[in-house]
Formats: sequence, C-alpha cells, structure tokens
Amino acid sequence: MIREKYARLAYHRFPRTTAQYLGHGRADTAPPEEGLPDFHPPPQPQEDPYCLDDAPPNLGYLVHMQGGIFFVYDNKKMLQRQEPHSLPYPDLETYTVDMSHILALITDGPTKTYCHRRLNFLESKFSLHEMLNEMSEFKELKSNPHRDFYNVRKVDTHIHAAACMNQKHLLRFIKHTYQTEPDRTVAEKWGRKITLRQVFDSLHMDPYDLTVDSLDVHAGRQTFHRFDKFNSKYNPVGASELRDLYLKTENYLGGEYFARMVKEVARELEESKYQYSEPRLSIYGRSPKEWPNLARWFIQHKVYSPNMRWIIQVPRIYDIFRSKKLLPSFGKMLENIFLPLFEATINPQDHRELHLFLKYVTGFDSVDDESKHSDHMFSDKSPSPEIWTSEQNPPYSYYLYYMYANIMVLNNLRRERGLSTFLFRPHCGEAGSITHLVSAFLTADNISHGLLLKKSPVLQYLYYLAQIPIAMSPLSNNSLFLEYSKNPLREFLHKGLHVSLSTDDPMQFHYTKEALMEEYAIAAQVWKLSTCDLCEIARNSVLQSGLSHQEKQKFLGQNYYKEGPEGNDIRKTNVAQIRMAFRYETLCNELSFLSDAMKSEEITALIHWNQRQLYTGPHF
Ligand SMILES: [Zn+2]
Repeated sequence: MIREKYARLAYHRFPRTTAQYLGHGRADTAPPEEGLPDFHPPPQPQEDPYCLDDAPPNLGYLVHMQGGIFFVYDNKKMLQRQEPHSLPYPDLETYTVDMSHILALITDGPTKTYCHRRLNFLESKFSLHEMLNEMSEFKELKSNPHRDFYNVRKVDTHIHAAACMNQKHLLRFIKHTYQTEPDRTVAEKWGRKITLRQVFDSLHMDPYDLTVDSLDVHAGRQTFHRFDKFNSKYNPVGASELRDLYLKTENYLGGEYFARMVKEVARELEESKYQYSEPRLSIYGRSPKEWPNLARWFIQHKVYSPNMRWIIQVPRIYDIFRSKKLLPSFGKMLENIFLPLFEATINPQDHRELHLFLKYVTGFDSVDDESKHSDHMFSDKSPSPEIWTSEQNPPYSYYLYYMYANIMVLNNLRRERGLSTFLFRPHCGEAGSITHLVSAFLTADNISHGLLLKKSPVLQYLYYLAQIPIAMSPLSNNSLFLEYSKNPLREFLHKGLHVSLSTDDPMQFHYTKEALMEEYAIAAQVWKLSTCDLCEIARNSVLQSGLSHQEKQKFLGQNYYKEGPEGNDIRKTNVAQIRMAFRYETLCNELSFLSDAMKSEEITALIHWNQRQLYTGPHF
C-alpha cells in the first residue's frame, strides 16, 4: 500500500527517478520492465561502433535557461509566451522543503533509536542466517555447473579514467614512447614546438632511470586525510607536464597517449572476458567546446570497448575557474555542461559526433574533496545559478540539485525521442558533512563511497529500505579517509544494503594488473567473505551499472529486474537461492512492519516518519 501511494506521488514529482526506483523496486506496483533506465545496447559484432549515420532528424526546439535549469520550447512563439514543451520540471521549493524534512528526521531522537535497533536486528539476523544456512548455501553453489566466482560478471562501478591503469602500466608506457618516438613533437610552448626528448630534458630526467617509486603516483601514508596531496599524485614525477601529455584528452597530440593507454586497459578487460568497467571522463564546464572535443577524442582514437561504459564526472571547482576569471557565474558553468547535450538531443544531425558518443555515456558523477567546508546554506532563498557570481564555491547540495534537475529534464526529453537516458551517480559520503547523503538520497540513482552512513542510523536504514546502490572502495578509503579494518563494507553487506566493490584509482591504490580482482581478493581475505558473499557483490555491481537491459539479461538472467529469488538465475550469477530468499524476506518484513506501524495511531513518531517517507524518497 505504501509503495503504491508512493509510486504515484513520486511519479508526479520524480518521474525519472521513479522509473529508476521501479527498476529496483518490487514488481507488484507496475510492470517491472517499464521503469528501467534506457541504455543503448552495445553494437553487434558486425556493426560499426563509430557509425555516424543513424542520428534522428532535427526538431528545432529552443532551450532557454531559467533559474539554473534548462526549459525546452517548441518554437520562438512559445518561448516568448513562456510556455515550455510539456516535460516535467523540478521545483526548487519542494526540494528544499523535502531536504529539511529529512534533516529533521535524521536528528529526531525516537527515530534514531528505532532505526538503530532495526539495523542491529538486521545484522544479528544475518549472523543467524549464516550460522544456519552457510553449509546449504555452499552445497547449492557446489552443485551449480560451470559457474564459479571467476566467471560471474563483475563491473568496476567506480573508477576514474585518468587513473584506470596501474603505476607499472603507466611507467612502461612512458618508457615505451620515449624509446620509440623521442623526436616526435608532443607539445607547444610560447609558439615553440617541443619534442618528447626535450620534455624529459627540461625535467632533468632520463626515462630509463624511472621507477615506480620515482614516478610517485601511488598513495601512501602521507595522503591519509590529505586530499590535496592525493590530488597531486595524479602528476607523474610531480610534473604536471607529464600529466597533460599522458593523462589528458585535450593536448597537442589530441589525447593520443591517454587514448592508447585506456585502450590497452580495455584490451585486458576484453581478454579477461568477465570484467567490465565504468571509467569517468571529465567535463569541467569551462567552455561549451569540451563536449565536442571529448566526442572527437573518443571517435578519432577509436576508444570504444564492449567492456567499458563511460561516465562523465564534473569536478566541483567553480571557485577556481571563477577566481581565474574563466567563468562569470555558476550558471555559465551549468550552461557549458548541459547546453551542448540539449542541442545534441534536439538537433542530432548537427552534432553527429556528440550524438554518437552519448550512446556510450550512461551517467554523470559529481566529484571533489567532500571534506571542504562551505559557509553557504542552500535554501530556496539562495541566489540562482545565473546570479551566483561570487568567488565562493556553492555547497554540495547546490551542485547536486542543479545537476539532477538538468539531467532530469534532459532525460525526459531524450526518452521522448527514444534516446538513451543518464543516471546521476555522484561521489557521496566519503568525508565531510552527513547532509551530503541527504541530498543524494533525493537526487541520486546510486552513490560512490557512502562511508558516512556509518554515522547516521536513520540514513543508513533509509538507504537500506530504498536499496540505493553504493559502490564502495575500501582500498581507496584506506589510503585517504578510513583504515581498512574500520571500513563498514562487511557490515553493510550483512545488513543487506546494496553494495558493490570498485577500485576508484588503480594507479594510486593497486599493485596488480587485475585491480578489481585485487579489491575482491583483499576484501575476501580480510573479512573472510564466502563465495556466496562475493558473488552477491558481483551481482549487485552488474545491477547498479550502466550496462544495457540486454546485457543484464545475458549476465544475470532473463528476469534480473524482478526482486527476490525469482529475479536470480543461479546458473549465471552463482548466488544461492537461499541467500536471495533470505534478503527478500527480510526486506519485505521490514516494510510490512513499517506499514503496520503506520496503521496504528499510537506510534505517532512512526507515522510522521512514514508520511515523510512518502514525500521525500525518490528511490523507495
Ligand atoms: Zn572516486
């Protein structure tokens, strides 16, 4: 009952996200296939992944930004009359009201106690399940032919493209380029052409002597709680020249070296067959040219790989661009990020390269150091992006709202045209304020990190009920914010939160060629995870990824989108049905417990809690 009401309301308010919620949600409220996000299926082997000819016709709609959000108009007349094309548009006031509702909720004493108890109960319940059923789970897996942990599909759900190769790989590549093409012009400074040899000469370096230690890209003891130091680890040998040359898509070589390395990583994934990854490429919002340039880089260097799906990360560094006078306002930054996308969606014929590239992009990420504090409190009185001209950086929740709002409008427009849609998958809860997790609860499809859920029982319980996927990277956390042994991943997994394992930055954190396997292996060793645990994590990773419906059906089973045991095909996932049944029953139990409590008028705190639930969570 709650769910039905909820879906209806949410359909009003969060049309895009409701669709996603139904993807994760129970089947009884709507036909389950209906709500799945649309991702472009990979091209068939005989098809050309770079074919530019299938762009749909232009529509000639107009777009105009108002209050930081793009509105779509059928023609000039409609624009003058301020009558936008009928798409759902978000409303700032409701968002801020919802925000404050949840904020009140997470500090409410009785609710806190309640959630804390339920979470403890969930954990104990799992221990009991483990004690009673571990052997039967194991037996079920043993009798499952062909499939084992090594050949279930795993997706690296959180990885940055600029660090997707390990340090040894980067080192080998640098040496190789120096040996084979030292006299190639690789940069231009003050009108003077510079060869690769000259680059190294100016740094007083001979690549032959380079080692992984002198490369100094690995995170270590010095980076703990020092995100600034960590960021500088992206510069090989501490030299930003090398970062520009080897790890950027825009440089004198048109990002050729970077593309070559990414392709080498992709080849390794293709060879290992069962691993996929979702690397993040940056769009900064300095200029509208970034998008066509990125699309050109992708097509020119033929970076497509069936084992990779791309995510666009937007660093929250408006303040830096503003202080360098590269941007007049925050609104301009949003315009640079989103206007090219709206144009490519409305008039694909005029933006064929970008249209093609967007087929392989499945989501957006918002990244930066979360522990940076902002003095501004986001509310409906906050200045809108067009008049946000100060040098101060807007707070996290402000970034998230405007990213989400524009993605939502864009998605509805794209769905109307039968084009693929995007998920919003920000970094969240790695450090900083707990309120970040509240913003993401409202706006995100899934998040990366989520460490701070540890500190708020109410939010943790909400994330559990809503089954919001969390991509966790304990090795990355170990170098930056939280020691491995204190990482909550095992605890979250046991309670039944939807967690997956990811590498974040293999260049900084990993030692072997198979970084994702390294991540799984270490987690398995340290926490003594069973095969069933590992395969459950792997299954989660495919579910939360941007792989297309067809691929998910192939990797997880025909009915993967259904919840509970019927959505599981053990022959493909190697997750025991006993485990699936346990998870499903436990979740249903919690939900029915809540709906019963809502009916009883005595427990007023809970009623409040549930009503707010109805208004707040897009994911539930
Ligand atoms: Zn990251």
